[in-house]
Amino acid sequence: MSLFFSLRPSFYFTTLSDIQIHWLEKQGIRGIILDLDNTIVSEDDRYLSPNVEAWLNQVTRNGIKIFLVSNGKRKTRFLYWTERFNLSGIQKARKPFRSGFQQAMRSMRLNLNQVAVIGDSLHTDILGAKFSNLMSIQVASLPHPKRWWENLIGAYIQIPYPKSYRLDFNRKGSHITHG
Ligand SMILES: [Mg+2]
Repeated sequence: MSLFFSLRPSFYFTTLSDIQIHWLEKQGIRGIILDLDNTIVSEDDRYLSPNVEAWLNQVTRNGIKIFLVSNGKRKTRFLYWTERFNLSGIQKARKPFRSGFQQAMRSMRLNLNQVAVIGDSLHTDILGAKFSNLMSIQVASLPHPKRWWENLIGAYIQIPYPKSYRLDFNRKGSHITHG
């Protein structure tokens, strides 16, 4: 069916740090609209994507802009992560709807063909990228407690994190207040 066909990402990598800066530059990418939950950090704050801090620094050092677009509802938590990684962005973005992506595009001042959306979920990140005519890159979902609907359709919208793959524990997790 055409809906499912259109839900395929442009590219897939297992983790963020598998995405080489040179490769992004070769694609003409100057900005990234980035997902937070289960892409950078697991929803329960237990795991970080391996080497994510170094990768984020490398991306920005190379002049590629990053704007977080998160559907997360907990404000304190969102502020904690944007501050820890020195990123700007918005929460409660209601992906896949276009408004959050439009806000990111206004902030980054780049053309559509210079921006990639990176995230772990087809129905929010990848579908949102399609609605906004942006390139999309899917990564595997960091291990996280499953919501009820993920037990039903999770296999269709996320790629499980490979068991053989390295994971970083979030050792500063106890500082996070949930509010
Ligand atoms: Mg996500």
